[in-house]
Amino acid sequence: MSNFETIIGLEVHVQLNTKTKIFCSCATSFGDMPNTNVCPVCLGLPGALPVLNKEAVKKAISFGTAIQAKINQNSVFARKNYFYPDLPKAYQISQFEIPIVGYGTIEIDVHGEKKIIGVTRAHLEEDAGKNIHDGNISKVDLNRACTPLLEIVSEPDMRSSDEAIAYLKKLHSIVRFLEISDANMQEGSFRCDANVSIRPKGETKFYTRVEIKNLNSFKFIQKAIEYEVVRQREAFESGCYNDEIVQETRLFDTQKGVTKSMRGKEESADYRYFPDPDLLPVFLDSKFLEDAQKIPEMPESKIVRYVTDFGLKENDAKIITQDIDMVKYFEFLVQQKILAKTAYTWLTTELQGRLKNGNTLATCGISKEVFYTLLERLQTQKISGSGAKTILDNLVENHGGDVDFLIKELGLEQINDDSAILTLIDSILNANSDKVAEYKAGKEKMLGFFVGQVMKASKGANPARVNELLREKLSK
Ligand code: ADP
Ligand code: MG
Ligand code: ZN
Repeated sequence: MSNFETIIGLEVHVQLNTKTKIFCSCATSFGDMPNTNVCPVCLGLPGALPVLNKEAVKKAISFGTAIQAKINQNSVFARKNYFYPDLPKAYQISQFEIPIVGYGTIEIDVHGEKKIIGVTRAHLEEDAGKNIHDGNISKVDLNRACTPLLEIVSEPDMRSSDEAIAYLKKLHSIVRFLEISDANMQEGSFRCDANVSIRPKGETKFYTRVEIKNLNSFKFIQKAIEYEVVRQREAFESGCYNDEIVQETRLFDTQKGVTKSMRGKEESADYRYFPDPDLLPVFLDSKFLEDAQKIPEMPESKIVRYVTDFGLKENDAKIITQDIDMVKYFEFLVQQKILAKTAYTWLTTELQGRLKNGNTLATCGISKEVFYTLLERLQTQKISGSGAKTILDNLVENHGGDVDFLIKELGLEQINDDSAILTLIDSILNANSDKVAEYKAGKEKMLGFFVGQVMKASKGANPARVNELLREKLSK
């Protein structure tokens, strides 16, 4: 047992999925040719005037509502002044004293234990551009400049890296369910800075924190925090805490798994914040606020509904609601009268189980409509379970396809017509009269042989029905 307590506070930047930037009408699309989505405003040309994007404000309110936060009816945009090549105006428009979203809470669950984490604030701001370093040359791409971010600042309430990850995953799920961000970590639409400090157990005052940047996966965040905790504890135990642990910004080196000093910590005074004279204070009228506070159903309430309305096990409902795409497929399927249990199993085990190489529901090419057709044909016994699996293999491999075409092409149409099955049974029994005699003499396991023969001859007879009809026939 360690004699130290870990203290973690997280700052998360979520890129809001508005079509256009926060202060101009340039597109926010990712991966376009550098410097093609730019205009005088986001290039920071003198005299250009910013105009606030309403959609960004709505999305921020939607987030605040989901975490039961205080929404500030009046909020102010401020200039945060600093110099960097990817920041053409030499200031970032952000919110300082009065953010749009005030104090709220997020409940996390770590190994079955629930805990409330405070969210200090969430404010709107513009993103900077990107510096691209290529050998001796550095280039600047300003496509990302001025895209809307929601910065969500937590209280220093987390006490372990597990709690930090649980908080981040919860936050990730909230913004995905609200559909205010795609929250793609690789593309940088969900970025986290971790503030980490330790203190001897029993103390109540906070010790020096360091801020770790450059964390673009849950795995790296966890590793970086754990490395940092050990570094600080070792400094404490060897008596050099005051020399080695200073308030600073550190970078996580993903290759070596260590954090390294990047720069001393700026104080807010260094940024010379002041209200942006080009933007009026934001006032939310009641109608706008009320509309923006209507938010989609969140996982907790979906879980309850899935259990009561569809008879799912709570755990199965939890698995579905881990992912908004899964929820969309599931809800579509049950709405189209696929049994909930079938939808659950085929989504989680069969489809998910077949997705490889980072493929997800969103990227696998099998739309929910195509998946529905597959399950409908299964449910109405047009194909058997094994036939459906064969088709699914094919759909996954080819990134989609036409279910009915595949049923024909692969000869998987199930024969449910009794008379067709009976004809087959008769011919099999006639050809094997010796075995029929054995069966009648008590060798019951011959039944399996007959079923096998009929199935082989039919390529698609409903196996359950074949079984029933054979038993009937043989008992005569
Ligand atoms: P800054 O912009 O200077 O980083 P913020 O107020 O935006 O300041 O963020 C500070 C973050 O650091 C918050 O998430 C807060 O919870 C966290 N924090 C503050 N003190 C500590 C501490 N002693 N240990 C760990 N985290 C801390
Ligand atoms: Mg910070
Ligand atoms: Zn622009």
